Amino acid sequence: MIIILKSGIGDAAIDDVCRRVTEMGYAPHIIRGEFKTIVTVESVMPVQQPFKLASREVRPEPSEVRVNGISIGGQAIVVMAGPCSVESEAQVREVADAVKAAGAKILRGGAFKPRTSPYAFQGLKEQGLKYLADARKRTGLPVVTEVLETESVELVAQYADILQIGARNIQNFTLLRRVGEMGKPVLLKRGMATSIQEFLLSAEYILAAGNPNVILCERGIRTFETTTRFTLDLNAVPVLKKLSHLPVVVDPSHGTGHWDLVAPMAKGAVACGADGLIIEVHPNPEEALSDGPQSLKPSKFVQLMRELRPVAEAVGRSL
Ligand code: PEP
Ligand code: MN
Repeated sequence: MIIILKSGIGDAAIDDVCRRVTEMGYAPHIIRGEFKTIVTVESVMPVQQPFKLASREVRPEPSEVRVNGISIGGQAIVVMAGPCSVESEAQVREVADAVKAAGAKILRGGAFKPRTSPYAFQGLKEQGLKYLADARKRTGLPVVTEVLETESVELVAQYADILQIGARNIQNFTLLRRVGEMGKPVLLKRGMATSIQEFLLSAEYILAAGNPNVILCERGIRTFETTTRFTLDLNAVPVLKKLSHLPVVVDPSHGTGHWDLVAPMAKGAVACGADGLIIEVHPNPEEALSDGPQSLKPSKFVQLMRELRPVAEAVGRSL
């Protein structure tokens, strides 16, 4: 149950509400978010779902996350693109210029990389963040980049426009709370073995910490199938849209693991209602330090953007 209060009354009234909730045998929790700030009791709403703030029951209209004038969750499909890992200044510059020219609205690139093997390339860390910030300055594209640990949230937030929480950190509740306190938009990637309910409860941690700017990302789950790297769960798109008001983005790069499957699944994602896509692009995938096999060459990305437009229009969206 959540209690929605009108905006504009002071702490004494909030304390009073909390006292009465406590007297009724519940532990009150105050959330001073953008759309949940408390004043006098307007209504008491029983919410059936365990994810209260993420639920459509609480907010029937879709929420939009705004980043430097770009809206994710609005009418336009937002494409985020860039390399899996930031590898050099020249690489990021080349990809940023190419994806911008093709119509991407946000630049992606990992500087802190979660690698299965400790011997694999771990990312350029702060130097990589600097290259991303330079590319933003050059192209005007906002940057989404992963934050791996609680200790580096402040540092990454100095450079990033959107903080990415990777699939492997979906239930790192300390990290979720920490990015919830930051207020910056968060791209929350579904874990490879995370149910929809668990996914939305992870989003709830960020929302409950006071940050309403959460973007959900379906990136493939692990199944018995081995011909693809993961199984992209496109069911998740309409399911998440039905259960939650949060914007939903799809990652067909990790979801398939093969560059030639990226375009068909990207088009499928837009057709079934995704608000955006996040796609890996590399100037020379054969030499990429991570995820080369699933990365598009810039020319293939241009072609995909061209092919996406009529699909977006067919479902009443623009690109
Ligand atoms: C990535 O975006 O490069 C990444 C590591 O994604 P995920 O967390 O979905 O595996
Ligand atoms: Mn990757």
